[in-house]
Amino acid sequence: MEPPVKRNRIDDSINSITIKNQTGIDNLIDSIINSKNQPQIILGDEYYQTLPLIKVFIGHVKQPKDISKLFEILNEKLPLKYLLHLKRVRKKDILLSPVSFLNSDTQESIQEYIERNIPEIKDCFEYFREATVPLTPPLTRKQYMENLRHWSLNFHPNHYIETIMSDQPFKQSEARNHRIYMALTFEIVKWYFNIKSYEDILQSDFNAAVVVDPTINSVVTLAVDNRHEHPLQHPAMLAIDNVAKTQGGGAWKIDIDDTLKEDLKEKFKIQYGTRSGTAESPYLCTGYYVYLLREPCIMCSMGLVHARAKKIFFSLDTPLGGLKSKTKLQCIESLNHRFEVFTGFL
Ligand SMILES: [Zn+2]
Repeated sequence: MEPPVKRNRIDDSINSITIKNQTGIDNLIDSIINSKNQPQIILGDEYYQTLPLIKVFIGHVKQPKDISKLFEILNEKLPLKYLLHLKRVRKKDILLSPVSFLNSDTQESIQEYIERNIPEIKDCFEYFREATVPLTPPLTRKQYMENLRHWSLNFHPNHYIETIMSDQPFKQSEARNHRIYMALTFEIVKWYFNIKSYEDILQSDFNAAVVVDPTINSVVTLAVDNRHEHPLQHPAMLAIDNVAKTQGGGAWKIDIDDTLKEDLKEKFKIQYGTRSGTAESPYLCTGYYVYLLREPCIMCSMGLVHARAKKIFFSLDTPLGGLKSKTKLQCIESLNHRFEVFTGFL
C-alpha cells in the first residue's frame, strides 16, 4: 500500500478563527524538547489514593513495665492478622483489635471481652478508646508520612517505586531522549496534517507513533494516523506492524514519507536502525520504547501489550484511552505482559 498522502484535514473555518496567544507548533515542539520537567509514570490508583481507614480499639496501659508482657499475650490471643502493617504499641497505647472484631449483637465492650477471655491482663489498662488507623499498608513514602498521624506503621520503601514516582525518574540524558522522541510525534503530525499551532492539535485527534530501541538509541519505525483509509490503521497498530516487518512479518507495511524521515533525521539528530536480523534480534517490541502524541485507545494499548513493548510515552490524554483515561491496562495483573507508562511532556 502507498503511504498516506499529505493533506490538510483541519477545517478552514477552524483555521480562520484567530486564537490569541496560541502557541505556534514549532514553539511547542521546542518547548517539548527543552523542558526541564521529566515524564511522570502512571501507576495504579492504589499508589496515589488516600489509604482506607478502619476503627480499632486501643488500650491505654497503666504501667509501662507491663507493655512487653501485654505485647506477647495479645499477639497470641488477639493477633492482628491482616493489620501487620500497624505497630502494636505506640508509647503507652496498645492496639487491641478492629472494632468489628467484637460481636455487635451482644454489644459486649472491649473491657468485658478482655475480662472474659484474657483475664490475666484485665487490670493492666487505665482506659480503652477507639481510634482510626489505615486498613491497608502504605505503598509509598508519601502514604506512609500521611498516615503516621493515625498510628505508627511498619513500612519498607520500595526504592524503585520511590525513584520512578519522583520528579526525576530518569537520568538527564535519558529524559532528553524521551523528549526528542516525543517531539518527533508532533513533527510527524504537523507535516501530514498541516498543523500550525497547539490549538490545531487540540482541535484534532491526529496521532503518530515512534518506536525506539533504547539499547542502541535508534528509531526502529515511525507511523502516522491512517484511520481515514482503514479503520484499524491507528499509528500504534501501524508501528507494531512495521516492527514485525523488520522481523520478516507484517501485514500492512505502511511506512511514512521518505523525505520526512530524512528531515527528521537532520533536524533531531536521530538515527534509524534495528537489531533485527542480528544475533540480538528482539522478539516483537521486546525492550522497545513507544512514543505516541496521544494516549492510545484500548485496541492499541492491548496491541502494545501483545507486542511486549517495554515503556509507553504519550503527551495528550484521550477520553477512551487505555493507559490512563478509560482504564489502565498496565495495571491489570492478569495480563501476561506489563509495561510502564509515562506522560507529562506538555
Ligand atoms: Zn488506537
